[in-house]
Parts: sequence; structure tokens; C-alpha cells
Amino acid sequence: MLSDRDRIYTNLYGLHDWRLAGARARGDWDGTKDILARGRDAIIEEIKSSGLRGRGGAGFPTGMKWSFMPKETDGRPSYLVINADESEPGTCKDRDILRHEPHKLVEGALIAGFAMGAHRAFIYVRGEYYNEYKNLQAAVDEAREAGLLGDDACGSGWAFDITVHRGAGAYICGEESALIESIEGKKGLPRMKPPFPAALGLYGCPTTVNNVETIAGVATIMRRGAAWFSALGRPKNSGTKIFCISGHVNRPCNVEEELGIPLRELIEKHAGGVRGGWDNLQAVIPGGSSVHMIPKSVCDTVLMDYDSLREQRTGLGTAAVIVMDKSTDLIRAIARLAAFYKHESCGQCTPCREGTGWMMRMMYRLVEGRAEIADIDLLEQVTKQVEGHTICPLGDAAAWPIQGLLRHFRPVVEQRIADYKARTASRLAAE
Ligand code: SF4
Repeated sequence: MLSDRDRIYTNLYGLHDWRLAGARARGDWDGTKDILARGRDAIIEEIKSSGLRGRGGAGFPTGMKWSFMPKETDGRPSYLVINADESEPGTCKDRDILRHEPHKLVEGALIAGFAMGAHRAFIYVRGEYYNEYKNLQAAVDEAREAGLLGDDACGSGWAFDITVHRGAGAYICGEESALIESIEGKKGLPRMKPPFPAALGLYGCPTTVNNVETIAGVATIMRRGAAWFSALGRPKNSGTKIFCISGHVNRPCNVEEELGIPLRELIEKHAGGVRGGWDNLQAVIPGGSSVHMIPKSVCDTVLMDYDSLREQRTGLGTAAVIVMDKSTDLIRAIARLAAFYKHESCGQCTPCREGTGWMMRMMYRLVEGRAEIADIDLLEQVTKQVEGHTICPLGDAAAWPIQGLLRHFRPVVEQRIADYKARTASRLAAE
């Protein structure tokens, strides 16, 4: 279990003052000028050695991502874009950082922006996060007033400022290229890649897009050192992570823990255990709705980190742990997710536009059992035709929950079909 002295987020629950005075009292903005004085390359090297991986879902090494930003830009500005468009079902970690620890994000943006040669960051906040936007904007204003941002940020000689941009409620704008389009004032449609944002991003300029939690941890890592961070967690899965535990647990919560904590320990120590006890557990979606669910037999022993979950053919994603006990109709739960992805598809590419609708309709037929056994294979084939054949990862995200259901709970689906057939046969016999 993570000790208090190893926590990055000391005000995750909003028990203390989130404004500049409170943040400073907790150690934020301490020695920021000295960190910047170490130089761009030294900061990138420190973040690389820490092993920090992107906390938005993909888990790409952060320092390496920053190093892709070109040093020569033909006079074009470089931009840091921070993705606060948190909309993944089950996920509410960035919300608490924006609410209660906004200065960690602002300070991290300055350090990250400096390391990649950017004089401006854009923070794209989910439209529904109005109160969070207000706190973040207040923190940016306070920092500017105190000289922590501006023409001579923290007295470093580096000009840096932040624009807070509000989204309008589209899940797809959490995809980095759609988010960039949205900031530019266009419809949030994902772009084909390549070119990648580091070469051609916001306004055609070199851009790095990072998640809120990734950037909010940067200042603490720089202050305490890469060795401290990389000693937490497991090899190649270092550091701490905010887990969002929801569903059929006794105390749903957000909690910062070391990567690699056993799933069972995470749920029992921090969320009061599964409703009705561990044996009442049926399945867990371990990383937000866009990953495969895992059955109880896997949950018994699995570790919560990128690589351990990949070995189980699922993923850490956003680390939103959705717990489902034995009362859950898993087919209906996944059908509801299929409806979500159909609704949020931008419609730009055919496999996703047509496939999400097809998968949703098929899933709702399976909820009733109104299908043939052969339809299960057909559904699986359709998920494979969508997966990997779309412009952005939303297609994969729509396919994977269904694949997880069929891999682990196919007998449940087959039983639903058999029950429907039996009910139909007995009704016809009675007529
Ligand atoms: Fe749009 Fe879906 Fe294609 Fe992504 S995969 S670009 S959401 S249609």
C-alpha cells in the first residue's frame, strides 16, 4: 500500500485549500525556477529515466514523446496541449485534479512546455466540467498574477502562458487529433496519421498532447527525482496512478496507489470490498469502458499495471475499475456500452459508422436472446472487421468490450439464446 509520503496528490479529496497559498504550503511551485535552470534536455532525460508513461490510456513513455518535438521548427511555434476532455465511462480522476490540485497541472505545464520548447499550452477541458474549469482558470490567473506564468515565468527568462479551452460535450474530442481540430474551431473529427502532431499539430505547428494526470505529476517527479518515482510500482510500470473504483463496491472512490497493486487488494483496501463479498464478484472492466472485461478468476490474481493487464489481453486504459457483481446482466451492460460508442462515433469512417450501429443492434437482440448461436460468431467477426480498420481508436474501443464478453462469457450468451428459444417453444405449444 502506498505510503502518504510517496503520494503525489496530497489534496485529491479537496480537504485543503486548492488555491495558490494552499498549493504552495503543500510544496507546489517550490524551486520551479531551479528545475527550469537545469535545461530542456536534462528535464526530458529525468522524465525518461523516471519511466513515466502517459496516464490517459495509451501508456506511451512520456519523456520519449517529448523528445519527438523538433528542435528546429522553421519559425513555427511549438505547443503543449493538455487533454482534460475526460469522458471515458467510469473515469473521473482528472476531474479531481482540476478541482483540488489545479496548481500541480499549471506548474507541470510550465515545466513540460519549457522542455519541449513551447511558450504556450492549451488545456482542453470537458464542457460538462464547469466547476473544474472555474478552478483551473482561477489557478492560471493566480499563477500569472504571481509571476509564475507570463513573459518571465518564475523568473526563468522563459515566456510561457496557458489558454484554458472548454469543449462542448463530444467524447470523440478526447482523441488527440479531434481535440486539436476542436481547438482550431472546427468539428472534432479525428485526423489520419501520419503526420503525427509532433510534426504537424495545432495550427500546423509541432504539438504534443498529454493527459492531465501525466502533466500534473511532472513537477513532483522533477523535485523528488526519477529514482524515487521509478522505485515505485514495477519495472517498466513505474510510479503511482489514480484509480477510479466504481460499480458494485461498498465505497466507490478515487485513490492514488502504486502501479502493480493486486486488483483484489485495490478493491478491498480502498473501496470496502465487493458488495456481498469477494465471492459475489462476477467481472471487472479494469481500465475504463474501452478495454476487455475480465472474469473473477483473473481478478483473483491480476496486478494493476500496463503489462500485467496486457498479458490478460485487456489493458490499464484510464485505470477506471468498473466492478460488476453476480446480479449484473453482463450482456445488457455491454449492450449499453455498444450504444454509447454508436452514439459517440463521428461517422467519418465506414467500419466505425456502420459497425457500431450493427454491433449495438446485435447486442440488444442478444440481451433478449433473440438470435441464433451462429450469430455469436458473426458478431465476433464484425468486431474484428471494425478493430484496426478505422481512422481513430474509437472503433477498437467499440469492438473490445464485446470481444471480452464473448471470450469470457460465451456460455452465458448461448444460455440466453437457449432460454429465449425454450420460452418461444412453450408459448407456441400453449397456443
Ligand atoms: Fe470517427 Fe469512428 Fe472513424 Fe474514429 S473510428 S474517425 S470516431 S468514425
